[in-house]
Amino acid sequence: MAHSSSPPFKCPNCKALYQVVPIEAESASDGQLTCRTCGGPLPARDGQFALKYFLLRRSGEFKRHAYSVV
Ligand SMILES: [Zn+2]
Repeated sequence: MAHSSSPPFKCPNCKALYQVVPIEAESASDGQLTCRTCGGPLPARDGQFALKYFLLRRSGEFKRHAYSVV
């Protein structure tokens, strides 16, 4: 009945893994989503659904110092 698990999304840039959860969104309030690891663009919507991304695993290649900026 319900799709209990969908395959994780892999960032094409840095290979970070995300669990993608589609949520019903009546209005497109979200702008562009970006990968939390590499900052690359992620698809924000799938048809009428807005997509939420939960980071499962970062790419081992990526340096974490990108986080300490800000
Ligand atoms: Zn990425």
